[in-house]
Amino acid sequence: MALLFAVSVLRKGINLKVIVIGAGAAGLMAAYHAAKNGNEVIILEKNEKSGKKIYITGKGRCNLTNTADITDIGKNILRGSKFMYSSLRSFTNEDVIAFFEDRGMHVKEERGGRAFPVSDKASDVIKALDSALKSLGVQIKYYSNVTAVNTLDGHFKSVTVNGKTEIEGDSVIITTGGLSYPSTGSTGDGYSFAKSLGHTVNATRPSLVPFETKESFVRDLSGLSLKNVSISLYKNNKKIYEEFGEMLFTHFGVSGPVILSASADVGDEVKDGNVTLFIDFKPAMSREELDARLLRDFEENKNKEFKNSLDKLLPRSIIPVMVELSKIDPEKKVCEIKKEERKKLLNLLKAFPLNITGLRGYNEAIITKGGINVKEIDPKTMESKKCKGVYFAGEVLDVDAYTGGFNLQIAWSTGAAAGRAQG
Ligand SMILES: Cc1cc2nc3c(=O)[nH]c(=O)nc-3n(C[C@H](O)[C@H](O)[C@H](O)COP(=O)(O)OP(=O)(O)OC[C@H]3O[C@@H](n4cnc5c(N)ncnc54)[C@H](O)[C@@H]3O)c2cc1C
Repeated sequence: MALLFAVSVLRKGINLKVIVIGAGAAGLMAAYHAAKNGNEVIILEKNEKSGKKIYITGKGRCNLTNTADITDIGKNILRGSKFMYSSLRSFTNEDVIAFFEDRGMHVKEERGGRAFPVSDKASDVIKALDSALKSLGVQIKYYSNVTAVNTLDGHFKSVTVNGKTEIEGDSVIITTGGLSYPSTGSTGDGYSFAKSLGHTVNATRPSLVPFETKESFVRDLSGLSLKNVSISLYKNNKKIYEEFGEMLFTHFGVSGPVILSASADVGDEVKDGNVTLFIDFKPAMSREELDARLLRDFEENKNKEFKNSLDKLLPRSIIPVMVELSKIDPEKKVCEIKKEERKKLLNLLKAFPLNITGLRGYNEAIITKGGINVKEIDPKTMESKKCKGVYFAGEVLDVDAYTGGFNLQIAWSTGAAAGRAQG
């Protein structure tokens, strides 16, 4: 016991050998801060290069953070915002922007405080990180798949690479990400390591992910984006979600900002299906106002066939679907449309129903909800409360946020906290 204490005292303040597993956003930032503290840092990455996921963020432009104030950042973190309190304050969004600006990568702000590289190139974010690490002498070993994290007497001892080579170190920072977009290398390995160390891994599911619908007509609407619509979700006749925004039809269902946010909020209820999504195409109008508008339009178009009368009201591609669902004869003259028929159309415009059968999978999910229970992690240092010398950062933790740069901010802040805690 006394010996262990002496060893841990000796370790403080002197050069440590820090092993970082995973060269994603959290791992690269953790390695930078650990190396800045004068430690010897080695990153083990299973891929052939670093930042494969960063490369595809923000549609290749990387929405690297958000300029919102700290309170608003907290509000955008769905799970784990209390846990994030300390690390978000010690490495803020302004610190993130300054980090990249200092390395010659200029940052611009767009709608909703979203921050991007001025170049619109996610690859510049990776380049800036790689060069920062190089200048501090951090070693990155590619094709190094960590297969086990080994401990001795409740303290980190070593990692096993590719099932055979053992690399010893004083501490390890596990930044292996979640399960989303597994082609980028995030295959949930950190969850297995955490379990082997006695951690609780909270149930995971895809999040910020599109929905699937029963209706196959969505395929014909694929690519149609609806702006300024309101959506509501019902399960067992109970409203579980309502939001205004932009959505998109896809070949299997629906996506777009408002759907992705809904998946983060109520994905647990949506994942098993039996949910009805209603689209209000004209949320700015009450039923009465919209009915009056329909009457005016019908008067203007009274000699047209019904199928040719909706151009001003709806995007062209959805008109055939609307006509079919209204059960009004498409060839009927508008002046012959009965009041009950108009009411049916009105209902569809205010509450267009789609049966949601579930969420799409991890291949299409921006993030993973769930992960390592943060009650078992020190929020200031990211150190495991179960095993000394083991640290976790980034998406592997049970912390998640809406889109807008918040998930990367989580990775930068927790990575920086873990890195700074070394030595
Ligand atoms: C398509 C898409 C777009 C996104 N856009 C944005 C955006 O614009 N803004 C935003 O804030 N967030 C965005 N996100 C979310 C954000 O990218 C992630 O939350 C963030 O990258 C998580 O960082 P991380 O370092 O924790 O994990 P990851 O980026 O997943 O990195 C984990 C790394 O660990 C490596 N690894 C895993 N297991 C092992 C192992 N056993 N041995 C060695 N290496 C291992 C992996 O290869 C990988 O390189 C997006 C996500 C996706 C999928």
